[in-house]
Order: sequence, then C-alpha cells, then structure tokens
Amino acid sequence: MMQNVTLASSNAGKIREFEGLLTPLGWRVTGQDQLGIVGAEEPHRTFLENALSKARHVARVAGTAALADDSGLCVSALQGAPGVDSAHFSGPERDDQRNNMALLQALAGQDRREAYYYCVLVWLNHADDPTPWVAEGRWYGEIGQCCVGNGGFGYDPLFRPKGLDKTAAQLTMVEKNRMSHRALAWQQLVARIQG
Ligand code: IMP
Repeated sequence: MMQNVTLASSNAGKIREFEGLLTPLGWRVTGQDQLGIVGAEEPHRTFLENALSKARHVARVAGTAALADDSGLCVSALQGAPGVDSAHFSGPERDDQRNNMALLQALAGQDRREAYYYCVLVWLNHADDPTPWVAEGRWYGEIGQCCVGNGGFGYDPLFRPKGLDKTAAQLTMVEKNRMSHRALAWQQLVARIQG
C-alpha cells in the first residue's frame, strides 16, 4: 500500500526529482503547495536546523510523513560562509550572478580557495517523530577566479569539483547528478528508506 509523504519544497524541479526516487519505494509524493501549505521560516544558522523545522512544520500541517532539504556552499577561508545565506549572499533577492560576484569579492587576494557544497535531507515519519532520519552530502572542490560554463545554477560557474579540470557549470546534468552533494545525501536516505 502506498504511504503519503509531503515535501517541504515549492520547487517544481525538486518535487519531480523526489517523486522519481520515492514512488518506486512505495511513497506517494505531494508538494507543500498542492496542500496549500506555506513554507516555514528558515531563521537558523545551520542547514540541519532549517531542514528540521521545515520538515516538522509540513508534517504537522499535512498530517503525513515529511521530507525537507537544505543546501548551500561553504567556503573554508570564509568560516563556512555563504552557508545558510547562499541564496541571498548579495542581498534579499535570489540573484545567482550577483551572488557569484559577491563571493569573488569576498575572496579577493585570498589564496585559500577550498569549498564544498553541502546538502542535508531530513525525513520525519510524523510531526512528533523523536528520531528523524538525517542524511548529508558534501561535494568538495575550490572556488575559481572567474565564472566559467553555462550549466547548473547558483555558484556552479565558480565551483571546480576536486579531481576535475572544469567547473560544475561545465558538467552535464547527468554527470552532476552522479556526484553532487544532493546525490550523495540522496543515496544515503534511499538506503535508509529501503531499510
Ligand atoms: P536551496 O537549498 O534550494 O534553498 O539552495 C540554497 C542555495 O545554495 C541556492 O540558491 C544556491 O545559491 C546554493 N546551491 C545549493 N546547491 C547548489 C548547486 O548544486 N549548485 C549551485 N548552487 C547551489
């Protein structure tokens, strides 16, 4: 019998991706928007706390299991910034190009360029589930000196994955989806769901 899980996301692309992975595992997937649920605030300073509060909010309102994700870029020389502020590093609007410029500026004259993308997934079986499943993925690399490539989104034109001689924006979607922080977190979560 199919069980219901509600996703704490309004991003249609993400919902399709989650659906593709969860439907074969016996889960009927619904996005929060389809239930008229407005997303929770993300006031916390860690990805984990933000994902947990999003998942709990959705589980409570929908009365189902819930899945939330949170992700961003962490740069070592910036003590993990932009971190949870990744989407809004250059200001309130989500502007990838400005964010990339702000990152280059923050790293001007800096030799240490190591960084990683981080993704955390939180699964709650119900709103008061005391033992959430938490899966995380880190994709290591470094920040280039200028933007290269047109693929991906966000900081991908600046992010040079370890072991590759190109940026994440020069990878095909299939290549990126094999090695990204999100892919790594997903692999762990799916293993848990399959038990
Ligand atoms: P969210 O988890 O979808 O809210 O993403 C937060 C922000 O992190 C995005 O707006 C991007 O700035 C950054 N980010 C997360 N994952 C990626 C990625 O795979 N490529 C580029 N930027 C990313």
